[in-house]
Amino acid sequence: MHRVDASTEVLTQAILRYAVDRIRLDPPPLDHPRTPAELRAMAGRTVTAQGIGGLEALRVFADVLAPACISVDHPRFLSFVPAAPTEAAVLFDLVVGASSVYAGSWLEGAGAVFAENEALRWLADLAGLPATSGGVFVSGGTAGNLSALIAARWRWRTLAGGRHDRTRGLVLASAGAHSSVAQATRVLDADVVTVPADAEGRMRGADLDALVAELPPDDLDRCFAVVATSGTTNAGVIDDLAAAADAAARLGCWFHVDGAYGGAALAAPSVRPRFAGIERADSFIVDPHKWLFGPFDSCALLYRDPSVARAAHTQHAEYLDVLHSPDDEPWNPSDYAHHLSRRARGLPLWFSLATHGTAAYAEAVETTLRTAAEAADLIDAAAHLELVMRPELSVVIFRRRGWTAAQYQAWSDAELQAGRSFVVPTSWGGAPALRICIVNPRTTADDIALIVDSLATDPA
Ligand SMILES: *Cc1c(COP(=O)(O)O)cnc(C)c1O
Repeated sequence: MHRVDASTEVLTQAILRYAVDRIRLDPPPLDHPRTPAELRAMAGRTVTAQGIGGLEALRVFADVLAPACISVDHPRFLSFVPAAPTEAAVLFDLVVGASSVYAGSWLEGAGAVFAENEALRWLADLAGLPATSGGVFVSGGTAGNLSALIAARWRWRTLAGGRHDRTRGLVLASAGAHSSVAQATRVLDADVVTVPADAEGRMRGADLDALVAELPPDDLDRCFAVVATSGTTNAGVIDDLAAAADAAARLGCWFHVDGAYGGAALAAPSVRPRFAGIERADSFIVDPHKWLFGPFDSCALLYRDPSVARAAHTQHAEYLDVLHSPDDEPWNPSDYAHHLSRRARGLPLWFSLATHGTAAYAEAVETTLRTAAEAADLIDAAAHLELVMRPELSVVIFRRRGWTAAQYQAWSDAELQAGRSFVVPTSWGGAPALRICIVNPRTTADDIALIVDSLATDPA
């Protein structure tokens, strides 16, 4: 079908060598984006009628394309939520790709699905969900939140026995909730009522209860889910999950916990008590590609009662009937989220967990928590910086005294251009600030000290 300019064996060795070398770079170069015009000029034409050959395409990737992608696993990539996949997880991602597993159904992917479910079991147990809970790995927190809310709305409408089939639903979520929650309500054509957050961005029981007390009866009737966040994206604070569970129970609606970022800290004994109440969740998500040392893309979505999710999500068609059995319903991952075909994207986490053991995960999360605390100390001690709050998990928000938004941006750009760090400005309380998020056990206090020092000088 295509011209190859080397034997398959040569290409195999080249690709495996490249992958292993990349995995072992310590640290990898930080790199930075380029404009489409620059990339066009540097990469040349790659998609042609005859093909440019695997070795040449690999060369273009290695020399031109990869350096135009920021290395998320660099120890000073501290923006957004970084990633720090284990070598075992990344290597196994290659195996998943090579194995041609269709992981949407038990019929086709039983072995892979079994192993994914082992990893999900570990997470469900950390959260204290019952033995009957279960779920599926989806692409990310955005897909996880949407799929959970689809199940929530399905249950609300089903319990209403037809009364709400055309009622617009309503979700209660905190001001600190991730943008994907509001996005999910737009997809669902539902409303979201925002619970004000405290000064640190946390949803408190009293604020939630006050809001519920003021909701008109029609809105109370429309409410199908309370969403709490266990580790907000901007500040890394945990909502009062027990109070949120209470409110959901009083409203008779679904309780969803978004732990896409912070749910990983369930594995860390030092902060586990802060998650009290999560065991009452109807659904819960956590992204292995954030703080559980897995590669993109992966979100573990768990349901207290998977049968609700199955009823909401199962697709029906002549060509799919064979996947279902009336007597002994097989565990088809496609039935638990808004998707059908899927990669066995939970396997890298499973393999890495099986390789290293869960104790290593607990220790790795604790390491990042300690580094975040050290970072806060360094920032607090620097006269030119102002710590906005002590980190509850591994996000540290702070300010550079006297800088404008433009100065923050100029400093951040210069750092990236020089390959030193990737720390983008955010805003906090309506004013510009810096935010670092530490999920990489290889990030050390020395890395933070470099950033603190660099912030002493005004950008050019
Ligand atoms: C990152 C994040 C999401 C979205 O996850 P994706 O994997 O990027 O889709 C949702 N909720 C929270 C709290 C997050 O931090």
